Amino acid sequence: MPTEPDTGYDPTLGRKFVFVTGGVMSGLGKGITAASTGRLLANAGFDVTAVKVDPYLNVDAGTMNPYEHGEVYVLKDGGEVDLDLGNYERFLGIDMTSDHNVTTGKTYQSVIEAERAGDYLGKTVQIIPHVTDDIKRRIREAAEGTDVCIVEIGGTVGDIESMPFLEALRQFASEEDPEDILFTHVTLVPYSKNGEQKTKPTQHSVKELRSIGLQPDILVGRCADKLDAATKTKIARFCDVPTEAVFSNPDVPDIYHVPLMVEEEGLDEYVMDRLEIADEALPAADRSQRWRELVTRDRTKSVDVALVGKYALEDAYMSIHEALKHAGIECRSEVNVLWVDSDEMRDHHTERLQEADGVVVPGGFGSRGTEGKIEAIRYARENDIPFLGLCLGFQMAVIEHARNVLGWTDAHSAEIDADTPYPVIDLLPEQHELDDMGGTMRLGAHETTIEPGTLAASVYDADHCVERHRHRYEVNPQYIDELAADGLTFSGTAGRRMEILERDGHPFFFGTQFHPEFRSRPDRASPPFVGFIEAVLEQAEQPATAADDASTGIQL
Ligand code: GLN
Repeated sequence: MPTEPDTGYDPTLGRKFVFVTGGVMSGLGKGITAASTGRLLANAGFDVTAVKVDPYLNVDAGTMNPYEHGEVYVLKDGGEVDLDLGNYERFLGIDMTSDHNVTTGKTYQSVIEAERAGDYLGKTVQIIPHVTDDIKRRIREAAEGTDVCIVEIGGTVGDIESMPFLEALRQFASEEDPEDILFTHVTLVPYSKNGEQKTKPTQHSVKELRSIGLQPDILVGRCADKLDAATKTKIARFCDVPTEAVFSNPDVPDIYHVPLMVEEEGLDEYVMDRLEIADEALPAADRSQRWRELVTRDRTKSVDVALVGKYALEDAYMSIHEALKHAGIECRSEVNVLWVDSDEMRDHHTERLQEADGVVVPGGFGSRGTEGKIEAIRYARENDIPFLGLCLGFQMAVIEHARNVLGWTDAHSAEIDADTPYPVIDLLPEQHELDDMGGTMRLGAHETTIEPGTLAASVYDADHCVERHRHRYEVNPQYIDELAADGLTFSGTAGRRMEILERDGHPFFFGTQFHPEFRSRPDRASPPFVGFIEAVLEQAEQPATAADDASTGIQL
C-alpha cells in the first residue's frame, strides 16, 4: 500500500490558524500581541509559525525607506521583509522564509504573471476569486507542517488596501472547521480626561470588521494600564464576545514581558480551549518558566552604548537594539542605547561619545552621515573604546583605517565617491551589470571562514560562521594586501570577500560585512554582540586609565 508522504504535519491535531487584525490606528503593537500569542502556544509545546500580511503594493520591503517603515529585516533565504518578521523570529525562535511575508505586490505579481501566461483560460481575472485564492494558497502553504499559524494583517481594518486580504480570511474561515480558526482583534482603549477607559473606538472598529463579514473571537485592548473589569464587560457586551475573551495589553517596560502579561489574564488557555488543543498542551507548570527566567533575569550591571546612525528612529535599527538586549541578557547587564546622529559627529564633534562605554556603527546606504560615522570610528580606535561595525559600519572602518592609519587621505567607498583615488570599497563585480534595485544585492545566509587564533575565532568559538547579508559593495580585492597592515586583520573571509575585520592592540575593534543582528535571539545572543558587551563591561570595570585621559585630550 502506498504510504502518505511525511509532511511533518500531525493530522490528528489538525492545523489551526489565529488571524490577527488591528483597529483604530496602526502602531498599536499588534505584531507583538500576535507574536506573544504564538510564544505562549510554543511554550505549551506546539509547533508555531507566523505569516505577516502587508497590504502595500511593494513586492517586498527591500526598496522601502527605514525612516518610513523601520528596518528592512533580512531572512536566511535572502528575503527582505517587514520588521515584524524579526519579532516573530525572535519571539518564536524560528527561521522563516520570504513566503511568510505576503504582500499585495507579491500576490498581484503572480496573478498577473499567470494571466499573461494564459493560465486563466479566457476568464475575466478578478480580485475575487483570483487574488483571494492566491492569498489563501500562500497562507496555507506557509503554515504547512506546523500545528498553529499566526496570521497578522498589517494596517488597520477599514483601509482600502487590506480589503482583499480580509475577504480572503472570511472565505478561508468558511472553508475550515470553526474550531480551526480564531480571529483576534487588537484595538486601542484610550483614557478620557477624567481618567476613564473609553471603549467607543473599539466598538467602532468591531462594527467595521463586522460590516465585512468578520466577527472577532478575541479582543485585545492596548491601553496604558490593564483594562478594568467594567471596561471588559462593556467591550464584551457591545462587541458580542464573552467577557473572558477580552484581554488587556498594557504598556510594559520590555516587549518580551508581553507574553507573561497576557498569560496572566489567561489568553493561552482561552486560545487553546477555542482551538480545541488544550488536551495536547504541556501541563501549565511546565510552560513559561524558561521564557520567564530569560526575560526577567537579574541584570546587575549597566552600560551605555552609542549607536551612531542617521535615522533618529528606534525602529530603523530594531534588530540591533534587540541584539544588544540579548547580549545584555547573556552578560546580565542592562544595555542603554545612546542615540547619536552621525551628522553631529562631523568636524570632530565627538563629545557625545564621551558618555558612551562602547560604539556601534550600523548599516546604511548612501552618503548622508558617512563622514560622521568615520569620525566616530576614529574616536573609538584612538581611545580604545570597544567598537562594533556592521555592514556599512564595517566598510567605514576600512575607510577610516585607509585614511587615518595608512594615510590614503581621499580613500572612500565607490558608493559615496565614484571618483576617489582609493576605492577601497567597491561594487561586487556581478553588480555592475544590474539595472533592477529590488532583491539584487548579495542577500541572505552565507558562510564565512574564520582564521584560527583571531578575535573572530574566539568570539564565534568556531572556524566558520553563517550569517545574513545585505550589501552591494565589498572590500576591493585590489587593496586587501595593503589594507591588512598596521594592526588591521581580515579574520573572516568568503573566497575573495572580506567578511570580518579586527584590530590588534585594541580592547575590541570588530567589524562584519554581514548583519549578525538578524540571527540574534533572546536565548541565543549573537556572538559579536556578546563579545562587544563583554569588552564594554570589562573596560567599564577598569579604573580610569590613559584611555580616559586621551578622550578628554581630544581636539574638539
Ligand atoms: N551600502 C553598503 C552596501 O551596499 C552597505 C549596506 C548595508 O549596510 N546594509 O554595500
